[in-house]
Amino acid sequence: MALDLAEQGYQVTLIEKGSPGNGASGRSVAACRQQFSTESTIRGMMYAVRQLRDFASRYETDQAYFPRGYLFVYRDPEQFTVAQTENALQRQCGLTEAVVLTQTEVAARFPYVSRDILGGTWCPTDGFMRPEVIYSTACEVAERLGVVHYRNTEVLGVDLSGDRITRLHARKVLRNTDLDVVGYGDKVDVACDFVVNATGLWTMKTQALWSTPGLYPQPEIEPKKVFVYYLSKNGLTVDFSEWPFVATDCGAYCRPELSGDKMILGWIRRTDPYRAEAPDRCQDEVPVGFSAHDLDGYAVEMWRELAGWLPVLGDLGMVQHTSGVYDNAPDHNPFIDNDKHVKNLVHAVGFSGHGAMHSPFTARIVRHKLEVGGNTMDLDGVQLDISAYAIGREFKPEHKVL
Ligand SMILES: Cc1cc2nc3c(=O)[nH]c(=O)nc-3n(C[C@H](O)[C@H](O)[C@H](O)COP(=O)(O)OP(=O)(O)OC[C@H]3O[C@@H](n4cnc5c(N)ncnc54)[C@H](O)[C@@H]3O)c2cc1C
Repeated sequence: MALDLAEQGYQVTLIEKGSPGNGASGRSVAACRQQFSTESTIRGMMYAVRQLRDFASRYETDQAYFPRGYLFVYRDPEQFTVAQTENALQRQCGLTEAVVLTQTEVAARFPYVSRDILGGTWCPTDGFMRPEVIYSTACEVAERLGVVHYRNTEVLGVDLSGDRITRLHARKVLRNTDLDVVGYGDKVDVACDFVVNATGLWTMKTQALWSTPGLYPQPEIEPKKVFVYYLSKNGLTVDFSEWPFVATDCGAYCRPELSGDKMILGWIRRTDPYRAEAPDRCQDEVPVGFSAHDLDGYAVEMWRELAGWLPVLGDLGMVQHTSGVYDNAPDHNPFIDNDKHVKNLVHAVGFSGHGAMHSPFTARIVRHKLEVGGNTMDLDGVQLDISAYAIGREFKPEHKVL
């Protein structure tokens, strides 16, 4: 967003309380798809994929996008029927490379998938990103364009004049050698014409800076803890390097690391009784029952489930876990909209597990909200209805969530 605005000639100040990637962005599985069930998101993700694909040549950096494809596979007839309807919508939006496959077609193209399925949907231009290339290059180019970037600096207050923010008050964050926050240092005050709130899960905290509870609709964010596991080849000579992202209808999914050495697993199943709370504390916390080494835990249950769909995974070895927290919106669509009270504030939060891939589209919507406003936006000549991201909207769930 900062880079996009700087490229349009805005004078931008970027304030981050940690270093870039301190939140969910540094913990993502980095997968990217256009197979969604909300029309604006399908079209927006087609735009995002084009931007991600051109990122390396545009900014003369390493390849940031790898179109390895996304395969959804189904055993549940009801879910398979819904997937076919969604596929028809995706194709209507111009995503003609997304296709429905029968069980025989899946077996012919992806022989490692169990035969015990009804079929799937496949889009070869979906793929994997390298977020660290994207955000480090974006920061570097943005700074060259004049963006002032404060790292380790937390916004702690705002000056409001009527219905506008006129100034942000931030302080340098002091950390010990373990990077724990131990206090605050120098003040950083920034005068502003407008503010973009991109504080993800911390919105639950930052919205107290500018809103009066109950007075106006606010982005409704709920934390959802997510665990990610890594399987290693365990001496096997299997080559994963060309595998796509595979998502099953029970919500378990996997993708290979770009090197093809390890397989990364995740599951959208709720992680109760574990509850995510303060984001700083719980992003990397892995409680008993959720570690890669708990033999009767969540990880092994997920692994067993996935091995039922992709039998070769059963021969690998569980080696590692990571975790993070999604900033979930009630309908799994983000809130990208002008604040209902503070006229020069735009929110871009609530990405519900798909914000990394969404980022080029998010930047376009934020610019539209700053310059034009309203819920109809021109995207490459198409008048796009973006009310799915409005604050105070009637919630219509995005069904394809991982
Ligand atoms: C395990 C996991 C797997 C995921 N997999 C994928 C995936 O495959 N594909 C995908 O597209 N998405 C994925 N996501 C989701 C994606 O990572 C997020 O949606 C996206 O990174 C959100 O970006 P963000 O910038 O909105 O939020 P964040 O990256 O969380 O950034 C918010 C930032 O705000 C800063 N901040 C907070 N309060 C303040 C303050 N007061 N002052 C200054 N700074 C502040 C924080 O330090 C933080 O860095 C995944 C997420 C997780 C946790």
